[in-house]
Amino acid sequence: MSRHDAVSNETLETRYDEYMMPIWKSLNVPLRRASDCTVEDFDGNEYLDVFSGISVTNVGHRNDAVVDAAKAQLDEFVHGCSYVHPNRPVADLAERIAEITPGDLRKSFFCNSGTEAVEGAIKLARKYTGSKEVVALEMGFHGRTLGSLALTGNHTYKREMGPAINDAVHAPAPYRYRWGADADSEAAFADRAAAEIEHVIGTHTSDDLAAIVVEPVMGEGGIVVPPKGWLERVAEIAHDHDALLIADEVQTGYGRTGSMFATEHFDATPDILTQAKGIANGLPLGAFTASPEIADAFESGDHLSTFGGNPVACAAALATIDELEGGIVAETAEKGAWLDDELAALEDDFDVVGDTRGLGLMQGIELVDPTETGPRGAAPAPAKALAATVGDELRDRGIIVGVGGYYKNVVRFQPPLTITTDQLDRTLGELRAVLEEVTADA
Ligand code: PMP
Repeated sequence: MSRHDAVSNETLETRYDEYMMPIWKSLNVPLRRASDCTVEDFDGNEYLDVFSGISVTNVGHRNDAVVDAAKAQLDEFVHGCSYVHPNRPVADLAERIAEITPGDLRKSFFCNSGTEAVEGAIKLARKYTGSKEVVALEMGFHGRTLGSLALTGNHTYKREMGPAINDAVHAPAPYRYRWGADADSEAAFADRAAAEIEHVIGTHTSDDLAAIVVEPVMGEGGIVVPPKGWLERVAEIAHDHDALLIADEVQTGYGRTGSMFATEHFDATPDILTQAKGIANGLPLGAFTASPEIADAFESGDHLSTFGGNPVACAAALATIDELEGGIVAETAEKGAWLDDELAALEDDFDVVGDTRGLGLMQGIELVDPTETGPRGAAPAPAKALAATVGDELRDRGIIVGVGGYYKNVVRFQPPLTITTDQLDRTLGELRAVLEEVTADA
């Protein structure tokens, strides 16, 4: 008899209600077990997972190589604090990250989550530059602890909890669908969006800039892919102000966009690169990596984390990287390009699909009300309720997707990268059926 036998979805939710803070309410699908791209709940229902626990289980749920590596490490030791007891899994992983990250990025600090990686990166940027201020992007997401919350450009996450510690200033996101439809070309929009950052530095800071922090593709903001040339310009602006470019690759790293890191799609290398989510395929681990020159600004005692760089998580990360390099990243690029085209076709077939966009297997469709004009621009009004309905209907048909974005009107497709084209095809078929159903009701 399994320890789960007496549990149903309902009894589980009752205990959640009783003993958990009510944060979980908007989430769904109780999880009994999972394998590759399939998730099973406590009532025996199976789902195709097209969201991978918010973009985490990149090499598939319970990937054999990752599970074996973690089990082998459990038999050696579980904890020693990697900053007190130098150990092999952490050293091996740090060396491996130096190999797979772009440019001169070489030395890492390990923590347990994305938000910690971002906060640590800011501390390092301050220590290295001797400056204090930080610019981030409107609609960007960098975490929910009070330091990262300052960088997160979305009041939804701050309401009744601000002001965040060390408030940052925010520049407009490179969101062409809403803010750049009138730009003559992608290049013209890239120039304009970069000029906005310069303007914010000019008007909202005292030019004591430590860093500009950006997501190379915005995740929680609604899968916003910047125009070509933009990231390069942002790096130049940061350096013109003696500041660092921090790329927050917590969501985009580890193969998600069809390259190991999303910054590789652009001709700019960040000074500090943050990682978490997919790094260990679900074991809690975060990191930030910098060039030796920058990293060596940290001295002993400047930063630490008791659990950071846990050896079991690091062993899992090493196996995850091997799996990714064994062909998964290359396949992600191909499957992603195909999915991107298939989703783009929805724009012609459904008025409510305002925009489709993404890189690799980080794709989104933006749902709109074509009869209403949206805020601050020419694009139609965001259709938040419709996006929620599409998410619910897909779940009822056995498919888990994400629903988010600044306007909460973006349906997100971020499956394990091991998803097959048949499974993506099934997702597209169900998505079309749901869109037909909801638009027929209108
Ligand atoms: N940065 C980015 C870009 C993210 O997408 C997230 C999580 N959605 C975070 C930071 C925060 O990560 P965590 O939830 O592990 O703190």
